[in-house]
Amino acid sequence: MRLPSLKSPLTLAWLAALWMGLLSNWPLWQRLHSLPELANARGLVFIGVFAAMVVALQGALLSLFAWKRAIKPVLAVVLLTAASLAYFISSYGIVMDPTMVVNTLQTDARETRDLLSWRLFASLLLLGGLPIAWLWRRPLDSSVRWTRRLGFNLLGFVLGLVAAALLILSTFADFAATMRTYPTIRYMISPVNAFYSLGTVAARSGAKPKGPPEVIGADAKLAPRAEGSKPPLLMLVVGETARAANFSLDGYARPTNPELAKLPILNFSNAWSCGTSTAASLPCMFSPLGREAYGKSKGNQETLMDVLQRAGLAVLWIDNQSGCKGVCDRVPNTSTAQLPAGAAPLPQGLCDGEECLDMALLHGLDERLATLDPERVKRGVVLVMHQMGSHGPAYFKRAPADRKPFMPECTTNALQQCPREQVVNGYDNSIAYTDHVLASAIGWLDKKQAQFDTRMFYVSDHGESLGENNLYLHGVPYAVAPDEQKHVPLILWLGQDLAPVGECLKQRLAEPASHDNLFHTVLGFMGVQTSLYRADWDLLTPCRK
Ligand SMILES: [Zn+2]
Repeated sequence: MRLPSLKSPLTLAWLAALWMGLLSNWPLWQRLHSLPELANARGLVFIGVFAAMVVALQGALLSLFAWKRAIKPVLAVVLLTAASLAYFISSYGIVMDPTMVVNTLQTDARETRDLLSWRLFASLLLLGGLPIAWLWRRPLDSSVRWTRRLGFNLLGFVLGLVAAALLILSTFADFAATMRTYPTIRYMISPVNAFYSLGTVAARSGAKPKGPPEVIGADAKLAPRAEGSKPPLLMLVVGETARAANFSLDGYARPTNPELAKLPILNFSNAWSCGTSTAASLPCMFSPLGREAYGKSKGNQETLMDVLQRAGLAVLWIDNQSGCKGVCDRVPNTSTAQLPAGAAPLPQGLCDGEECLDMALLHGLDERLATLDPERVKRGVVLVMHQMGSHGPAYFKRAPADRKPFMPECTTNALQQCPREQVVNGYDNSIAYTDHVLASAIGWLDKKQAQFDTRMFYVSDHGESLGENNLYLHGVPYAVAPDEQKHVPLILWLGQDLAPVGECLKQRLAEPASHDNLFHTVLGFMGVQTSLYRADWDLLTPCRK
């Protein structure tokens, strides 16, 4: 029997599978080793079998690409993918499921820069660059006929699959138990997780109906306003990565809400998000369907913004983040970087040319109002503020130097490098800054009361993990996500005309609330009549006469 030749593409494919299975997946082996169920000799055997299964599975798949011209580029791509995933999985405890792929694809360059670090570079170099440099210099045998090569490759594929299946069967009880208790573990197997999830996302978007989104609320119109009443002006603030657990309004021990605490706000302490990422939550929040039905829908519907505009209101989406994920595509939208005509220049330090602090959302608001159709403004206005909020991992960039009550704070993106208190300090500073932004927004709305009946609705898109169970950031699949990623702050502020409603709502602040309430509460605020409206999902319904 001859040893497999190093000149064979198939041998290189299996060597790469071995390298990735044993080394690039070290965060997975470390994770499994840390599970209490596996902290014994039997657990070690299981982890060994699991690793062999991963090698066999990835070897099987790579066998299909074991052609002379294809193998080196293919291996370079998978090795680099696995190397970068090793970094992100070990640094943030993230898992590469389809939702995370969507997040990644929708992330803009600024956000990407927040995630880069020398540790990522080192991971790419050691786990990716090193084996690629070796592989690239292997001469490949070109004397083998393609039919024979095809035979070898198919054999490699089948034997790999059979081996993987046998390995799973040999330890099936442990395997099934582990997968049941920790369903996200399978999304830690790199790099098949990334390619599998990417494929799922591609298949889903391929299945998405083409063409314009389905029209919703075609019957939307404004209820006649009482004689002499003012048009409503709603500021809808879409928060980012703020979790209720760190709001002193929701019982957090540190004073993260000093300004809001002094204002007559209504803080719903039992509010839950629709998703655990911006890409999942945002479209769901602006849909009439609610979390359960939205999850089953094709997601190709118009949004709250379309319905408000169709009813004849003036709407404007102001973005201070990576865009509105399709929610505001057909209505007036702008960003903090684009100042309206006539506005004063931005105060020093608010924008650095790439990113703006959230106070920039409130800059030149009167001038922005003046850009809207005056006929619509007379009927009512909805301003949506899409915050940068507490977007991680660079929490320290979310508040200006003179607004950081909690020090010292973590000033690197590699959160696991910092003591946990410093990570929390940086995060809490971003929450305290959001407190200041919201209180300032209420100050502006208060002044507008001569002209409008004003209201504010603030809710965060999802929460965040700050190292609990070694988990950072967000985006864990909803069914298994910890509460920190789903329990969000939800705050209303009502103008004078709704003062009696506010008094009544104070008794109901502990009732369950969620993103499901957003669409219908906003319709109620603005007096929009449509068959879509569900009074039972309008937060104000129990207190309206
Ligand atoms: Zn988000």
